[in-house]
Amino acid sequence: MLRVVFLGPPGVGKGTQAARLAAERHLVHLSTGDLLRAAVAAATPLGREADGYMRAGRLVPDDLVQRILAERLAAPEAGNGFVLDGYPRNPAQAARLEAMTPLDAVLLLELPDAVLIERLSGRRVCPTCHAVYHITDRPPRIAGRCDRDGTELVQRPDDRPEAIATRLAVYTEQTAPLRDHYGARGLLRAIPADGSPDQVAARIRASLPG
Ligand code: ADP
Repeated sequence: MLRVVFLGPPGVGKGTQAARLAAERHLVHLSTGDLLRAAVAAATPLGREADGYMRAGRLVPDDLVQRILAERLAAPEAGNGFVLDGYPRNPAQAARLEAMTPLDAVLLLELPDAVLIERLSGRRVCPTCHAVYHITDRPPRIAGRCDRDGTELVQRPDDRPEAIATRLAVYTEQTAPLRDHYGARGLLRAIPADGSPDQVAARIRASLPG
């Protein structure tokens, strides 16, 4: 049983590392960003409400996020433990989470802002299979096309410059204070997120109980 939260600014690689850890340890990977994007794509009432906030790079109201998350945390698949990616993002969400479940560790991934901006602004994604590329660091074989299925790659609306600036500001103002919150509870593990995904994964493994 392992219950982990990934904390860190946009572009730091939380999604990549959370998915890897979940696969390695047979945990449920819950990304509120992915769940919300799926709701937007399916144009559910919740998705339609979340869309504008997400495009602007602002936080979706707590009640909407709570609704999308609570049922999945309660699902039996989460019994072996979970990796939360993108939640909690402010003190109110942290309080709600505390009321739902205990945690074993909070992994804080860290990178300088300049690196985050470079990663986010160059990111392109495949709308069909969700593969992630970067225009210079991880380009597809054929420019603008997914290697797996040939779909035309797109930029996430919130990876445009104005939205990136908002996301970083929201992180600093609302999410970064959780560092002290979890530090005080002895749960925080700060992980440098530079280097290859393998190197970061090794640091994460070393910081968690076997
Ligand atoms: P990133 O961490 O790179 O910004 P995510 O995919 O985690 O990307 O989140 C994308 C967007 O989804 C956020 O900017 C926000 O609008 C919304 N979102 C995701 N998780 C939450 C959350 N816990 N609370 C409020 N909004 C959220």
